[in-house]
Amino acid sequence: MNDSIAIIGGGAAGMAAAVKAAWSGASVTLYERQDKLGRKLGITGKGRCNVTNDCSPKEFLACVTKNDKFLYSAAFRHTPADIYAFFETLGVPLKTERGGRVFPVSDRAGDVVFALRRAMQDAGVKVLTGRRIRSVKPCDDGTFILSDGRESFVHPAVIVATGGVSYPLTGSTGDGYAIAEKLGIRVTDRIPSLIPIVTAEDTSSLAGLTLKNVTFSVIRGGKTVFSEMGEMLFTHSGLSGPLVLSASCHMREDISTYSMEIDLKPAIPDGELDERLIKILTENAAKDFINATSRLLPQKLLPLAAERAGISERIKAGEVTREMRHRYLHVLKHFSYTPTEFRPIDEAIITSGGIDVKEIDPRTMEVKKLPGLYFAGEVLDVDAYTGGYNLQIAFSTGFLAAEAAAERVMGY
Ligand SMILES: Cc1cc2nc3c(=O)[nH]c(=O)nc-3n(C[C@H](O)[C@H](O)[C@H](O)COP(=O)(O)OP(=O)(O)OC[C@H]3O[C@@H](n4cnc5c(N)ncnc54)[C@H](O)[C@@H]3O)c2cc1C
Repeated sequence: MNDSIAIIGGGAAGMAAAVKAAWSGASVTLYERQDKLGRKLGITGKGRCNVTNDCSPKEFLACVTKNDKFLYSAAFRHTPADIYAFFETLGVPLKTERGGRVFPVSDRAGDVVFALRRAMQDAGVKVLTGRRIRSVKPCDDGTFILSDGRESFVHPAVIVATGGVSYPLTGSTGDGYAIAEKLGIRVTDRIPSLIPIVTAEDTSSLAGLTLKNVTFSVIRGGKTVFSEMGEMLFTHSGLSGPLVLSASCHMREDISTYSMEIDLKPAIPDGELDERLIKILTENAAKDFINATSRLLPQKLLPLAAERAGISERIKAGEVTREMRHRYLHVLKHFSYTPTEFRPIDEAIITSGGIDVKEIDPRTMEVKKLPGLYFAGEVLDVDAYTGGYNLQIAFSTGFLAAEAAAERVMGY
């Protein structure tokens, strides 16, 4: 038997757990199916890696969209400030940007991956790449047999950190769920979260257009279920960008029951916007309506906004009636889209669903009915908004599992 802790998965949670367990004095073997560690981590934050958020544990938990209570111990035992300090200790200087988002000063996600790799190496973690673990079997003596289909490995403790099912080319294809199900551990349904939304309206002419400082709202049954100001993006099939990805976490019912709208001028109340329109139309009375309003909106949106308000592109600004102006005002404040479906789950930033948290001790990440087996990171049924919170989940649950597993093997 090998006396080391086995970690399955060399992503954010697995590498953080490996460092922590090794620092606690345990010997650690990490199994990674890819030839390289941290593939997904390396593309996070558009290649800049938003490692955590500069917020309190309570604020962090408020941004967890599923099973926030389960993460209470993880949030308070390994706070966002602790994760910040951890990376600075590893030699990655960090900076805080808008919304508390924390990034490496270098703006390179690769620096975060490299620092974790080096820390594992310095701490003596044995890393086996190209090893896809397919099953974990508990033995009567409390140990576990891992198998990759060719070879078997026996360990006294195992941390499963195999991630979700999104961006499968990074190595995360849901193996942890299959491992759990074979052991009789309940896994909840997986659905995409933080995912672009396909719309009934054709958005191809707007693809690539980013809107900044707009308010994006999602409405269901007359109730606003999401409304935030920020940035969004048009794609060939619909809507994406930070606001839309965040909104998608709030659309867990039948998608056809939701409607979406963009307030293109959220900082200007209706009355003031109407006055501004009157001024623009009066001062540019001889110009075409589109040219007269060209400063109000990005170029690509102008013809669409006019069309939605039923205003002909060729009409002169001076010919616009009060009714037309009010319709235009309504369009600016309620630029609506109809969601038809989410993009496929492999395009999601996060997989929602996973190992049922009722099966797991929230203080240790240990499977209640199988002592010595732990789950950490995205494989668990927890997820959060964008802003560094999902990596905070991966690191803090990885740390908890590592501490508990180290305690177990060292007292073995
Ligand atoms: C494009 C994109 C951008 C993102 N940006 C951010 C961001 O800036 N900030 C943020 O907080 N979150 C971000 N996220 C989410 C974040 O990347 C995840 O929450 C995080 O990576 C989860 O970490 P994990 O270790 O649980 O899983 P992963 O990082 O997915 O790692 C799982 C690892 O396990 C390995 N593995 C899988 N199966 C096996 C097996 N059978 N045997 C051995 N190894 C296996 C995989 O190859 C992989 O290396 C982003 C996600 C995406 C897709």
